[in-house]
Amino acid sequence: MASQLNSPHFKDADKARVYLEALRWPNGPICPHCGSVSKDHYALQGEAHRPGLWKCKDCREQFSVTVGTVFERSKIALHIWLQAVYLLCTSKKGMSSKQLERMLGVTYKTAWFMSHRIREAFKTNPAGPLGGADKIVEADETYYGTESGMSKKKLKGKYGGRAAGANALGQMNKIVSLVERDGAVRSFHVTDVTGDNLKRVLTGQIHPDTHLMTDSSFRYNEIKRAKSFAKISHVNHSKKEYARGEVTTNTVEGYFSILKRGLIGTYHHVSSNHLQRYVTEFDFRYNNRTALGVDDTQRTNEALKGIGGKRLTYRRIEA
Ligand SMILES: [Zn+2]
Repeated sequence: MASQLNSPHFKDADKARVYLEALRWPNGPICPHCGSVSKDHYALQGEAHRPGLWKCKDCREQFSVTVGTVFERSKIALHIWLQAVYLLCTSKKGMSSKQLERMLGVTYKTAWFMSHRIREAFKTNPAGPLGGADKIVEADETYYGTESGMSKKKLKGKYGGRAAGANALGQMNKIVSLVERDGAVRSFHVTDVTGDNLKRVLTGQIHPDTHLMTDSSFRYNEIKRAKSFAKISHVNHSKKEYARGEVTTNTVEGYFSILKRGLIGTYHHVSSNHLQRYVTEFDFRYNNRTALGVDDTQRTNEALKGIGGKRLTYRRIEA
């Protein structure tokens, strides 16, 4: 089988641009200045213009396919961007900036900025809540690293060897994930896992007609009392009960296992400030996974469709 990376749009900047235009503009170029969609915008040609420059037939402003996207004003050739998106989309546990540096032939710093911009493209605005009538959503929380981004060893040093370290000091980052059975995941880096926080996240993200499944943590008592969902079941892990009929949290725990292996094995130390972006990356791959019929090319295209309208956000990363 030929390497996917041999496709022309991964090897040539012009072909990458044409590929991106076809993907982002199926009904003709979209002017990012006034929003006009038309096959009649003018393609500016000739030596005075760089390839891929358009002039809006309505507002007369010039634009290209990368204006208003996370690729805008980048010195990196477009086909290298497309390679980076492909690599991040096809590596189940992510790809470190160190690895991207080697594979793309860019500096470490460039690889780091590129991967953070690509994580912005992974952000999606879901159309509606998870779950619904006759649907199951599993909720669970996990803990990662330290809020300060310091290693546990450093924390121990700082706190005079008080070992339980991160945990005892309440320094762990908390992540809440909600997974619809055979469906999508949504994950949130939260400041604290309290009954109130969980209730806010769950009722904000899950349809009330859903059958919610959790472990027996007392933190879900609030949600149970409020009867926020059609049915709420839990498995009692403290009594070594992991499944009772269809009641289990194995799906969300399976998701955490991929997330943790990626955060620990691939990314090593993710600081608290950036954690949500990494979690979003894992959510994106999971929501466009092979088991849902999404192949590597489709997953990459999905990410490329998400590059628009996020320019301001990525500037904040660099600030
Ligand atoms: Zn326009």
